[in-house]
Amino acid sequence: MDPDFYELLGVSTSATEDEIKRAYRKLARELHPDTNGGDPEAEARFKQVTVAYETLRDPERRRRYDMYGIEGLRGTGAGGGGADDLFGGFGAGGLGDIFEAFFGNAGFGSRGGPVNLRGADLELIVDLEFEEAVFGAKHEVQVRAPVTCETCDGSGARPGTTPVTCSQCGGTGHMQRVRQSILGQMVTSSPCTACGGTGEQIHSPCADCRGDGRRTEEKAYMVDVPAGVDDGTTLRLTGRGAAGPRGGPTGDLYVHLRVRPHARFQRMGDDLVHELHLSMTQAALGAHLEFETLDGTEDLVVPAGTQTGRQLRLRGRGVPSVRGRGRGDLIVHIAVDTPTDLSKEHEEMLRRIAAERGEQVAPPDPGLLSKIRSAFK
Ligand SMILES: [Zn+2]
Ligand SMILES: [Zn+2]
Repeated sequence: MDPDFYELLGVSTSATEDEIKRAYRKLARELHPDTNGGDPEAEARFKQVTVAYETLRDPERRRRYDMYGIEGLRGTGAGGGGADDLFGGFGAGGLGDIFEAFFGNAGFGSRGGPVNLRGADLELIVDLEFEEAVFGAKHEVQVRAPVTCETCDGSGARPGTTPVTCSQCGGTGHMQRVRQSILGQMVTSSPCTACGGTGEQIHSPCADCRGDGRRTEEKAYMVDVPAGVDDGTTLRLTGRGAAGPRGGPTGDLYVHLRVRPHARFQRMGDDLVHELHLSMTQAALGAHLEFETLDGTEDLVVPAGTQTGRQLRLRGRGVPSVRGRGRGDLIVHIAVDTPTDLSKEHEEMLRRIAAERGEQVAPPDPGLLSKIRSAFK
């Protein structure tokens, strides 16, 4: 069972950065090894709480955790899109510490057994046109990543030979070390340095992969972008990451989507918003307009007496729900433009309307000459 980082810190999933920080400080004071006389249970909780805090305080890590849980923190992007190491800030031990804090050594295969070295997860960014995000698309991506070496079938050993049991660890992949601590004797286990934790050594390495079991290759994948994705969505392609060394399991490929903005529409969840400018007469008298939506031209009826700020709704002309149910609306925000380029004739017409409606308006412009005169008074 995955631990819940929010529960560990005692905050809600919508907690702000500040709330998270305060919750952590309080817990850290209670659980810190220095204040607990080395109580191993408190120390274990302190480690967990610290990992939870280190994850949630960083927006990118928090996003990954919210999306994929603790698995989302596993494996950092090597190669591929050349993404930054998301987990560089996790203190000296880095990512391994996360799993150790929660699962002990279980994070590396079964405890005591040889390490099953999983290939790295890869990340890359795909840029989408606005319409592609709305209606879905297929995108080819190129990934340069280690793939299983065909010559040795991933074993790393020259064909005709086989890897032998590691002489240093006896095939367990781990080195046990005993050290004295204030709690008494403690046995710590770390991956064997002679075999890299695999439990096997290769005396005649495969010439094509130099014993790694992998070769770097450029591969093309078709990414199926579902309709309704938004900017910042991440898709996970299981098993499309780097092959593991010496036949270890393959990592995953994370595709981050970036959506180009649209010239006329803004996205608000599954709704689209457009600001429509109307003239004073269109707003007062109403209008039937041809309106371009993402689905083609539609009739837009502007009722007489429409004010600035009014919203007209074209139902079902928004973005399909990425969960596959229903579609948002297209919301037209009305802005009425006041004319600024009145001809003499139009000005007189408006003055007549104002006079008939009994509306007080400014007197006619006295003209440029009198303006200059008044400036010199
Ligand atoms: Zn090979
Ligand atoms: Zn070994």
